[in-house]
Amino acid sequence: MTLAPDRRFILKALGAAGLISLSPSGPLHADGMMPMRAIRQFPLGAMTVTIIDDGSFSMGVGMFAANAGKTAAGDLLASYGLSPTVAEMPLQVMLVETQGVRVLIDTGMGDITFHGNVPDNGRLVRSLQTLGLAPSDIDIVLLTHGHPDHVGGLTAQGEQVFANADHHLPEIELAFWTQSPDRAPVALREMIIECRRHLLPVAHRLRSYDDGTEIAPGITAIAAPGHTHGHHAIMLESDGRQLLHLVDTAVHYITGLERPDWTVGADIDKPKAIETRRRLLARAADDQILIAGYHFPFPGVGRIMRMGDAYRYVPVPLV
Ligand SMILES: [Zn+2]
Repeated sequence: MTLAPDRRFILKALGAAGLISLSPSGPLHADGMMPMRAIRQFPLGAMTVTIIDDGSFSMGVGMFAANAGKTAAGDLLASYGLSPTVAEMPLQVMLVETQGVRVLIDTGMGDITFHGNVPDNGRLVRSLQTLGLAPSDIDIVLLTHGHPDHVGGLTAQGEQVFANADHHLPEIELAFWTQSPDRAPVALREMIIECRRHLLPVAHRLRSYDDGTEIAPGITAIAAPGHTHGHHAIMLESDGRQLLHLVDTAVHYITGLERPDWTVGADIDKPKAIETRRRLLARAADDQILIAGYHFPFPGVGRIMRMGDAYRYVPVPLV
C-alpha cells in the first residue's frame, strides 16, 4: 500500500468529506427549511469534539511564501485548481466536552473584518445556539494566541461574551497584543488596536499557561512558537485516542505542508515558525496522530502524510 496519494486523490477526498462545499448535506433547523451553520461533532475516546465554522476571510496568497518567488505560492495552489491570487481562510472553532467541562478553543473573528473583505464571520454564537448552548454554558475559553481572528469573538459591543468561563492565554501574548499601538511596529498597529478592543475587557480574568499545562482533563498546551511568540498547539487525549490541534502552526493546508520552509507573512518569528512547523508536522506524520487546523477547509480534521522532505494533509471524513 502506498502512502503517497496523488493530487487527484486529495481533491476527491476533499469532495467526499464535504470539504469543498461549505454547505454539505448537514442537519436542518427545526423548521426543516434552512440549512444549519456548518457543524461537525465526533467522539474522541470519552470526549466529544465539535468543529464550528465561524465563517472565513480572504487574503492574497503571496502571504504564504514571503521568502520565495513572487508567484511561488500561486503556482502551487493553481496546480490544485485553486486561485493563484486569493485564498479563502476558513475559521474553525473547536468545542471540546471533557468530563462535564465545556472548553472552547479560540473564539473566531467576532465583529472584525479584515481589509478588502465583506463580513462573513462571527457565526460562533449562533452555531452554539443551534447546539442548544448559550455562551454562558462555556466553562473554559482557551486562547491559543492573541491574533484577532482567534480572539475577536471574546467580546461583543465591549461586553464579555462568555460570562461564566475561565479564560486562558499565555501572559506573553496578552502583553504583546495589548501593547501601546504607538510603540508597536507600524505593520502590526491595526491588528493590535483590534486585539486590545477584544482582549482588554477580559484581561483581568485571563490566566496564563505554558508548555505542558493541562487546561482541562486531557487537554494539554504544547508550545508552538514562531507564528506568535506564545502561540500554542493543543493536544487532546482520551482513552488512548489523540488529536493534535495544530492551530496556526501551518496556516494553509497546502503551502504550509508542502513547503514548510516557506515563510508566512503573519509569522512574527519566521525561523522559529519554520522550526516549529517541521517539528509538529513530523510528530503528527510519524505517530499518525489525528490533527486539526484552524484555517484548514471545514471541518479541518485529518492526517499528515510525509512526502520526502514535505508533508500532505489528508482530510478524514467525520460522520
Ligand atoms: Zn489564525
